[in-house]
Amino acid sequence: MDVKPQTKQAIFLVWFLLVPAGLWFTYHTYPPKINGHWIDLLAFLLLTSVVASMPIVINEMFIFLIQWVALATFLRFGLFVEIIFAQIAVVVLVLKLRILRKGELFRLPLNLIMFFFVSFLSGGLYYLLGGHTGPKLQINADFLLLAVLYAVLSYTLNQVILAFNLYVIYKSKDPYFGKEFFVETITTLITFPIGFILYILYNQVGLLALLFVGVPFVSLSTIFNLYYSSEKINEYLQKAAEIGHQMAERLFIDDVVDLFIKKLSEMLPVDYAYILEASGDELKLIRRIESGQVLPNDQQFMSIHEGISGMVWANRKSFLFKTKKDWIEYSNGYIPKDAESILGVPIIRSKKLIGVLLLASRRKRAYEKSQLMIIDILCSHFAIAIENARHYEQTKRQSERCALTNLYNYRYFENMLTEEFEKLTRFERKMLSLIILDIDHFKNVNDTYGHQSGNEILCELASRLGKLVGVRGIVARYGGEEFVVLLPDVSKEEAYQMAELIRQSIANWPFSISQSLDQKHQQVRITASIGVATAPEDAEDSLALIRHADRALYVGAKRAGRNRVAEYSSC
Ligand code: GH3
Ligand code: MG
Ligand code: MG
Repeated sequence: MDVKPQTKQAIFLVWFLLVPAGLWFTYHTYPPKINGHWIDLLAFLLLTSVVASMPIVINEMFIFLIQWVALATFLRFGLFVEIIFAQIAVVVLVLKLRILRKGELFRLPLNLIMFFFVSFLSGGLYYLLGGHTGPKLQINADFLLLAVLYAVLSYTLNQVILAFNLYVIYKSKDPYFGKEFFVETITTLITFPIGFILYILYNQVGLLALLFVGVPFVSLSTIFNLYYSSEKINEYLQKAAEIGHQMAERLFIDDVVDLFIKKLSEMLPVDYAYILEASGDELKLIRRIESGQVLPNDQQFMSIHEGISGMVWANRKSFLFKTKKDWIEYSNGYIPKDAESILGVPIIRSKKLIGVLLLASRRKRAYEKSQLMIIDILCSHFAIAIENARHYEQTKRQSERCALTNLYNYRYFENMLTEEFEKLTRFERKMLSLIILDIDHFKNVNDTYGHQSGNEILCELASRLGKLVGVRGIVARYGGEEFVVLLPDVSKEEAYQMAELIRQSIANWPFSISQSLDQKHQQVRITASIGVATAPEDAEDSLALIRHADRALYVGAKRAGRNRVAEYSSC
C-alpha cells in the first residue's frame, strides 16, 4: 500500500482548499439551527467524541459506530454542524487508535475529505429533496422517509468513497465486498434506528435523551470490547499451550530456539529478536534475529548490569516500551536505531533466572500489556523445553563420547562406519578409508610413569588427532590405547599420507605429563603403529574394513618394527 509523495501532498492541498470553502458555503446556504442551545450543542459534541473514541474491534478491524449520532446531529442542528462534528470525530478516532505511523499523516486529511464529501453530498441532497433542519418525524411520515433516505444515502456514499480510496489512492487489489463490508453494513443498519430514537427522544425530553441513549450504547460497546478481548486472550492462551507442547517435543536446543522465535513472530510484530542466556555474571547472546534473518552473535557477552536486558535481569520482571524515547537512555547500543517498541521478558525456570528475551518492532506501540502475560507463559514453556533439550543433548553426548578423551566412543564409531558403508553401497560416496592406530609399548609407559600419566598421554594424543584430522573425518577411541580415524571420500593414498603425518606428530613431539609417580613435570616420547585400509578396494563390508586395517597395523607395522604406517594389501 505505497502511496506516492505527490499524492500525499495533493491530499493535504485538497483538504485545505475544499473543507474551509465548503464550510463557508454550507454556512451561508444552509445556516445551522442552534437557537441559543449551546449547551445542547456541546452535549452532542461530547457524545460524538465519546462514541468516536470507542470503536468496537472485531478481528483487528475497527468498526466506527458514529453514524447514528451524526444522523441525530444532522436532523437537529443541520449540515454545517454535522460536517464539523464529523471532522472532529475523525480526528478523535485517529488520535485514539494512534494509527498514524511515520509517513502516514496524509491519512488524516484523506479521511477528513472523505467524511466531508459524505456529509456534504448526502446533506445537500436531503435539502434539495425538500428536507429541512429539525423536522417533526413523528408527525409527518414524509419527513421520516426523507430522513431514512438521508441515512441510506450517507452510508452508500461512505462506501463509494471508501472504495475510491482503496482502489485509487491505495491501489489495493483486495475484493471490495469482503468481510469488512458485511460487518460494517450490518453494524450500521443496526445502529441507524438508535439515531432516530435519539432525535425523537431529544425533541420530547431534551438533553436527558442523550443519557438515555448514550449511556446504554457506550456501556454495550464497552462490554462487547471487553468480551471480545477476553475471547482474544483465551485464544492466545490456547495458542501458547499448543506452542508449549510443540517446543517440548523438540530434542535439540537450536530447534527449540528456532520454533520459539518463529511462533513469536507469527503472534506479534517482531522485527528484531534476541535471546540471551545467563552464564555467571554475564548474559550471553545465543540468538540474534533481525528482519527475519538469523545473524551471527557478534555481541558476545554483556554484563548483567548493562542495557535493557540487564534491567530485565536485575528486576526479574518484564518491561514494555512503547516508543524509542522511553528506552533509549537504558540501551547499551546493540538494539538497532530504527526500533521503537521493545518487549523484554525474563526467562525463569524453577525460580531461577536463566535468560532474557528481547523483542523489538519498528512500529510504535506495537505490543500491549495483555500480550506480555502470554509471552511470559511462553517463556516458561521455553525455559522448560530448553532445559529438557539441554539434558537430552548432554545425555546423547555422554552416550557417544569417551569420558577420558572426549573423543567419540566405539559405539558411535561403529554406527558411523555402518552408515558410511551404506552410503558407499548407495554410491553417495566413492570410497571410505580407515586408519587404526595403536601406541607402541604403552604398557611400559604405564609401568614407568603410572596409569594416571598414561591417561594424560592418551588425552593429549586425542587432542593432536582431533586437530590433525579436523573436519575431514571422524576420530574415535577404539579401545584402550587404540584409536581410529574414519575418512569418507578419502583415497587410500591420501589416508596413508595422513597416517604418516599422524605418526610423525606423535614420534617427533614428546608428550608432557604432570601426574607421574614422582609428581614432576616430564616429557615422554612415544611412538605408534598405524594400519590403513580403504573400501571398496580392500573390503566389501564394514567388518572386513576394520579387520584389514587391523591386519595392516599388526602385520605391516608392529611386526615390521613399530613406529610405522602400513597399508593393507591382499597378497
Ligand atoms: P604394543 O602395542 O606395542 O604391542 O605394546 P603395548 O604395551 O602397547 O601392548 P598392548 O597394546 O597390547 O597393551 C595395551 C596397554 O595399554 C595395556 C594397558 O596397560 C594400557 N592401557 C589400555 N587402556 C588404558 C587406559 O585407559 N589408560 C592407561 N593409562 N593405559 C591403558
Ligand atoms: Mg593395544
Ligand atoms: Mg599398544
